[in-house]
Amino acid sequence: MLNDKIYLIDGGLSTELMCLGYKPDETKLWTGNSIVERPDLLKQAHLNFLKSGSDIITTASYQLSVDLIEENLKCTNQKAYDIIKQSFRIAKEAVKEANLGSEILIAGSIGPYGACLCDGSEYVGHYAKNLTIDFLIDWHRPRFESLLEEGCDLFAFETIPSIKEARALIKLLSEHPNVKAWLSFSCKNESEISSGDRFRDAYQVFKDNMQLIAIGINCTYPKYIEKLLESVSNDGTVSKPFIIYSNDAKIWDNSIRRYVNSNNEDPMKVVMEAIPKWIKLGAQYIGGCCNINSENIQQIKNFISDNHI
Ligand SMILES: [Zn+2]
Repeated sequence: MLNDKIYLIDGGLSTELMCLGYKPDETKLWTGNSIVERPDLLKQAHLNFLKSGSDIITTASYQLSVDLIEENLKCTNQKAYDIIKQSFRIAKEAVKEANLGSEILIAGSIGPYGACLCDGSEYVGHYAKNLTIDFLIDWHRPRFESLLEEGCDLFAFETIPSIKEARALIKLLSEHPNVKAWLSFSCKNESEISSGDRFRDAYQVFKDNMQLIAIGINCTYPKYIEKLLESVSNDGTVSKPFIIYSNDAKIWDNSIRRYVNSNNEDPMKVVMEAIPKWIKLGAQYIGGCCNINSENIQQIKNFISDNHI
């Protein structure tokens, strides 16, 4: 990007759907189930983010694979492809209905292979060790190409746990030179992405890729992010902008499978206070992941404009 504009992306789609009374966690397709079951609520969730100021919204395809759809909805192969495409169509309808008069982008969400194992593997990422790059490319291809056929030309490669899976995605992307994407990793501490690869190494590997608009971090505890970004900027200039959409500062408790506020602090305040530092370090795309809903996106929007960031 050649300008200084800060682009606001959306928040956690699952979080917004939950605010609307839908429960993505009761199904293996996660937010993708709403495409079939409650397309009205899904469109509303997108609309809420648009009304809150998001410049970019992401589709409900994060946890969709053709196999997983067929298995869970007992449908045909053809129908499974159509459900993936429907995620883009619903997002498009929301953009049209919002009628904001400004340029809104839709990013096709591509979650990692581990997300479709539905066992939390995407936050560990070890599975990639036993898989070949070609296997990962073939696995990612159907969803990627379905969205592409529907007209999607920007992709969110998100919550990616390893450099290996990122390599597979970038190779797939390179087959379509006019298509853009961002590459966002989930991180487990102040220096490493979920598989244990270093974030600074991941950044170095992909920073010169012309199809990537940004490289960054999502679905991560916000207090880790400043150090993660510094690990890159300490190496020299940040040539590719960062994209950051962290969770709020609640902590995941695996025993009860939910986020808890254990530090007795305002979990959203932690994010707000960190945003100016992230921007200073080179973040140009800001949004939210788990526990960040459309009201929080509005808060971020106001905070950025009130502080002339
Ligand atoms: Zn998240």
